[in-house]
Amino acid sequence: MEKYISIRDQYCSNQACSFYKQIGKQNIAIHGKKPERLRCTSCRKTWVLHKNGPDYYLKSDPEKIKKALELLSLGLTIRMIAKRCKASTSTIQRWKAKFQVPP
Ligand SMILES: [Zn+2]
Repeated sequence: MEKYISIRDQYCSNQACSFYKQIGKQNIAIHGKKPERLRCTSCRKTWVLHKNGPDYYLKSDPEKIKKALELLSLGLTIRMIAKRCKASTSTIQRWKAKFQVPP
């Protein structure tokens, strides 16, 4: 699960850093495993993986999200959708909140 969270998708959130919010600059190093911490080799800031960053959800399979949202709009329950999309119920709930699907 959650393999799509990649170090390549992470960015430095230090506004003073020259790599601030830049992805793919190869300035990110792994700093720790539990929790997963990363370090910017430029400014030496460390942080826990941006799992809740704005890009996080979009790194999921877009087709899967689309399908989940479709099923939501059809009135299926979170549990049913999770099963069909092979995702956890909490993931579906996050997508629902993120994309603000009306109840
Ligand atoms: Zn930095």
